[in-house]
Amino acid sequence: MAKKEFKAESKRLLDMMINSIYTQKEIFLRELISNASDAIDKIYYRALTDDALTFDKDNYYIKVAADKDARTLTISDTGIGMTKDELEQHLGTIAKSGSLAFKKENELKDGHDIIGQFGVGFYAAFMVADVVTVVSKALGSEEAYKWESAGADGYTIEQCEKDSVGTDIILKIKENTEDDSYDEFLENYRLKAIIKKYSDFIRYPIKMDETVNKPKEDSDNEFEEVQEEQTVNSMVPIWRKNKNELTDEDYETFYSEKHYGFDKPLTHVHISVDGAVRYNAILFIPENMPFDYYSKEYEKGLELYSNGVLIMNKCADLLPDHFSFVKGMVDSEDLSLNISREMLQHDRQLKLIAKNINKKIKSELQSLLKNDREKYESFYQSFGRQLKFGVYNEFGAHKDVLKDLLLFYSSKEKKLVSLDEYVSRMPEDQKYIYYASGDSYERIEKLPQTEMVADKGYEILYFTEDIDEFAIKMLTTYKEKEFKSVSSGDLGIDTEEDQKQSEEEENKYKDLFEEMKSILSGKVNNVKVSKRLKSHPVCLAADGEVTIEMEKILNAMPDNQNVKAEKVLEINPNHEVFKTLQDAFEQDKDKLSLYTNLLYNQALLIEGLPIQDPVEFTNNICKVMV
Ligand code: ADP
Repeated sequence: MAKKEFKAESKRLLDMMINSIYTQKEIFLRELISNASDAIDKIYYRALTDDALTFDKDNYYIKVAADKDARTLTISDTGIGMTKDELEQHLGTIAKSGSLAFKKENELKDGHDIIGQFGVGFYAAFMVADVVTVVSKALGSEEAYKWESAGADGYTIEQCEKDSVGTDIILKIKENTEDDSYDEFLENYRLKAIIKKYSDFIRYPIKMDETVNKPKEDSDNEFEEVQEEQTVNSMVPIWRKNKNELTDEDYETFYSEKHYGFDKPLTHVHISVDGAVRYNAILFIPENMPFDYYSKEYEKGLELYSNGVLIMNKCADLLPDHFSFVKGMVDSEDLSLNISREMLQHDRQLKLIAKNINKKIKSELQSLLKNDREKYESFYQSFGRQLKFGVYNEFGAHKDVLKDLLLFYSSKEKKLVSLDEYVSRMPEDQKYIYYASGDSYERIEKLPQTEMVADKGYEILYFTEDIDEFAIKMLTTYKEKEFKSVSSGDLGIDTEEDQKQSEEEENKYKDLFEEMKSILSGKVNNVKVSKRLKSHPVCLAADGEVTIEMEKILNAMPDNQNVKAEKVLEINPNHEVFKTLQDAFEQDKDKLSLYTNLLYNQALLIEGLPIQDPVEFTNNICKVMV
């Protein structure tokens, strides 16, 4: 029999399959099962319009059978089958099927990218088989045909016998090599696992023969091995079921079966969209943070199905970074099974789905915040940081989506509050949203800088995470209210009278402050009368954009740019110590220098900044003591 050549492109893809270094050889089964399912679909759709044809569900199935001795794996279906012409057209060339049309030259050379986790269709069979035989009888045809190929050098077609309509794909499984094992594709348990993984939701039963131990007839304690046919796949996926039929438990079971996490999900969203783009999705908000969440190892993404067939484990394009904690899956009939990773990124349907999902997650979180505060706070404990990173990242591109989801600890409420809650109870005369930064709530609570703002009765938000100030700087305002650090230059709480008074004081003590400034030259930019201190003698404040907290954080980074805040040493003129300073200024310049340095170092300590020379500092204290 004359051998026919494959079309050029098919040949190249075949070469690649055969020599594939790709480890996920197992996807061949997914591809063949999907083809089988499509073939049954075709009969089903034909029956909808053809009265002569009835579709009796029980007669349609896919069967997977391994024969270890013969080293064959057979995938049979009761689908529409192929005529001689169709065998020739569909399996003789790949370009026809569209699989290859969009695959770029350079991808072809490599082999890695092209196969990826994506569909490569029928040719994937050559990753595991030396010889592929297709026996098919088309619906309405009397004859059956056998197509056979041992790879790139071509294929043969001849007439053969087959009783029923449908297709058998017989794979002669390769011998093991030094590097690769193929035996596994003849093991039932392994085949079952592969089917479960990729093809669990194929609409038709996928059957396998199972050896089971059964009690022998007429005997209670004697057993025999019998072959029994089992359906391996669960067929109807949970996401195609009606929400009303499902309980929280169903979703939780799905979550754990899918290994989305070891915890119980906090909440889920079940989406069925039937509009410009059609898709089903089940999304979960986990309660606990995966151990590698804030590390490079963590990979975001949702499972992506094309009409019930898994095409990608973690489709990153479906989730924005700020919602990278979301787990779950998306199934769309509008996505092709044979889509490459690169194509997917530009896929219009996928973009629409991603946009839609982004909105749904936000509104789910918002309603959780509104209706189940406890749950939301538990979520926020794990992932609040990610939301704040989201506000900051990409120059604030997503800040409007995220700002309502933020929570900060409140000086007044002694618990986490939202910005909306804060702003809604601001007294009329309060201009700014105040915040204070520090290592812990306890430390911030004691910061001298908070005294005046707190005394005014204003609420202060406590920032304890590195990202907080950076995120807020990106946000700049919330409901038109500007954010203000309690350590910033102008707090905006002075009356005109206050201002006049402090100007007077400033003038009165001008010489003293000038002297102190020169003592601390290189350490602070200015020394002045404090308007924010009540009972404390001294504190550090910052002029300009960089706060002291930001200086600390930036300098702790590996690529430390040596950023410095413009520090201002503020002195409380109402504190007893101030008198001592004035006396020293008039009588003893050495003492003034000693006291000034002591006060400066105290201010550093309060801020949690390192003292440049601790030995000198303690010596200085001793000087005062003796
Ligand atoms: P794709 O599935 O992307 O079209 P394939 O290379 O997997 O590409 O298959 C090519 C064509 O061969 C299919 O479109 C289909 O028409 C036909 N085909 C493959 N397997 C079967 C099958 N089991 N039964 C009927 N037709 C099939």
